[in-house]
Amino acid sequence: MPASEPFLIRVAVFAPLRRFFHYLPAPGMAAEQVRTGLRVRVPFGKGQRYGIVLGLDRPASPQAGLKPIGEVLDEAPLLPDSLHALLTFAAQYYHHPVGEVWATALPTLLRKGGAPVPETLAWTLSAAGQEQLATGLKRAPKQRQALAYLREHAAPVAEEHLAQAWGRSWRSLLAHCAERGWIRTAPRQPSTAPVPPPPMTLNSAQAAAVAAIGAVPGFTAHLLDGITGSGKTAVYLEAIAPLLAAGKQALVLVPDISLTPQLLQRFADRFGAARVAALHSGLTDAQRLAVWSQARRGEIAVLVGTRSALFTPLARPGILIVDEEHDASLKQQEGFRYSARDLAVARARFEDIPVVLGSATPSLESLHNVQQGRYRHLTLPQRAGGAALPTVELVDLRRQPLQGGLSAPLLQAVHDTLARGEQVLLFINRRGFAPAILCHECGWVAYCRRCSVPLTLHQGARRLRCHHCGAEQRIPEQCGNALCGSPQLIPVGQGTEQVESALRAQPELANFPVQRIDRDAVRRKGALEAALATVQRGTPQILVGTQMLAKGHHFPDVTLVGIVNADQGLFSNDFRGQERLLAMVVQVAGRAGRAEKPGRVLIQTHHPEHPLMQALRRLDYGGYATILLEERRAAGLPPYTCLALLHAEAHQPGLALHFLQEAAACLHHPALSVHGPFPAPVERRAGRYRAQLWLQAPRRELMAHALGPWMPEVEKLPAARRVRWSLDVDPLDL
Ligand code: ADP
Ligand code: ZN
Ligand code: ZN
Repeated sequence: MPASEPFLIRVAVFAPLRRFFHYLPAPGMAAEQVRTGLRVRVPFGKGQRYGIVLGLDRPASPQAGLKPIGEVLDEAPLLPDSLHALLTFAAQYYHHPVGEVWATALPTLLRKGGAPVPETLAWTLSAAGQEQLATGLKRAPKQRQALAYLREHAAPVAEEHLAQAWGRSWRSLLAHCAERGWIRTAPRQPSTAPVPPPPMTLNSAQAAAVAAIGAVPGFTAHLLDGITGSGKTAVYLEAIAPLLAAGKQALVLVPDISLTPQLLQRFADRFGAARVAALHSGLTDAQRLAVWSQARRGEIAVLVGTRSALFTPLARPGILIVDEEHDASLKQQEGFRYSARDLAVARARFEDIPVVLGSATPSLESLHNVQQGRYRHLTLPQRAGGAALPTVELVDLRRQPLQGGLSAPLLQAVHDTLARGEQVLLFINRRGFAPAILCHECGWVAYCRRCSVPLTLHQGARRLRCHHCGAEQRIPEQCGNALCGSPQLIPVGQGTEQVESALRAQPELANFPVQRIDRDAVRRKGALEAALATVQRGTPQILVGTQMLAKGHHFPDVTLVGIVNADQGLFSNDFRGQERLLAMVVQVAGRAGRAEKPGRVLIQTHHPEHPLMQALRRLDYGGYATILLEERRAAGLPPYTCLALLHAEAHQPGLALHFLQEAAACLHHPALSVHGPFPAPVERRAGRYRAQLWLQAPRRELMAHALGPWMPEVEKLPAARRVRWSLDVDPLDL
């Protein structure tokens, strides 16, 4: 647009509004001052809002009632073109308001109008400091240590790393050393110090994977399909190493915050702590913004983060890695419901760099992409470093006496393992004592008042709790059925608490500590880390836990894994039930025997002859995944088709269903099949009645094509104002 022509500024405000707004430039403002991608403050309703400039438009006709823009916050766009393109794509693909997509992508402080953190200083040892270290400071151990730390790092160390490394008194130490000229500041360039050679020789499968990833410099998607303990992390490290030497950056996504310290440590060991940083929800807003700003300036070589770290700008992107790519936590389940894995692939395409998706239990989506030739398949079929895969046995539970859900063969194995001085992990994917209580006389079950689910018995806290809405109440003394009133209320099924107390009740196990690891037990900050640290010490003990224990952890001394109940999920009404169960058990089983000592896995089931159980016995994830894929193809389910869910909920019964009926009525697209509306699997939650409409298209493009014009129609429906609704494209949870 020629500089002299009048223009309007198209702005998406940071709010869930499915439209943009036009503003007039402020008096005297030139078009170059309000480029696309700059943040602005604008008058909005009675107040002010922040938003992003999407573009400049020529005014069509005289514009009445438009307001001038308040303020332009940035001189240059915060995000590079590649990320701008990614967010635009994401807003279209997920049919989500672009302003909220931007708001999700930016650190909180930037969304609220703050500025990126300016460059901070980095410090290095001076010649005088070298000499001091060699000759003096015998009586000043703290200063000695501080200087020695800088000597270890060839490159200048940024202040925030010193703050971590030197401890609480880092500021006074810094002032002391600087005054004496022992240290000096240096420009904060990403370290170009050479990367040391790998500490171990890669095996041939690992080496082949690293070579394949490095072979093509531009966009390629790789599925790194490596069994548990096969050394996927080593592949990430060695794929990254040559990029760092070339001054490039790597972004590594992990599904779970609890996995970041472990992975961060391995990256720090390999590349030096000064070159790596983490971005996750455990940081304060200020810390997040600092790391974000450094990554954007190119000062961080390896950024490890959870889901939303995907949107961090990188000055010189070299590679994207998504670890545990099958994990459902990579999908955001509220607001802007994006898949960080899928968007990582899209981002790699926009950046024109390789992306690696790693897992021991790849999602069917990714395996399908391999079949279609879209992803390259890299396999690590063996455990690295001489560890063998565990042996797996099925324990037939039929007619077995159980104690707290534990069979005699499993208890015997627990005992034998501990007696040998080794560790045991028992997995049960339910926290609490029992998933329900019922009346032995009449069958009455205690339900949540606000949700259509039974309440979970928490024996330790002496409460009944709803795992859907968080409501809790006293444990009733008698049956809630007024005609019965029997005091005989009994727990049904098992949770982690029950397994824990059953173990404690065994006299032969009395000398061994039992650690429960689930959301209740590790609610306190740092509790999970403390528990994991005890496990790392290696003394014989029993871990009882939920899927928290299934994820990526490395427990070298666990040699027995018991799956207390594998049958949940076998007959789930969610079409992903079997895939989830398979992945979960293979992952948990993978915690056994990861070091020298061989591992053993016992799976308790009432259905030992089920093909899935037979596949688990052979730890044959790939074989059964092929069967599941074939079933999905035959049934016309994802990944062979594209699915979207329109979800609605309301306090009044019927409203959600009514809204969805109206929404369905204004959908006219020949390629789309519409199912429902149905009540949601959990029909009532936190007092709201919930329902959903399924939309299915043979291909993603057709879905995008059909939903595009439909969303504004849905929004305009009068019924839309009486419900809470949301669209979930590629939903994971039904
Ligand atoms: P994964 O992430 O695939 O489960 P890890 O990367 O955690 O596996 O590796 C498992 C163990 O094997 C780690 O202790 C790692 O140090 C070791 N390891 C990996 N690759 C090799 C190798 N080539 N030689 C020896 N040990 C290795
Ligand atoms: Zn009763
Ligand atoms: Zn509830």
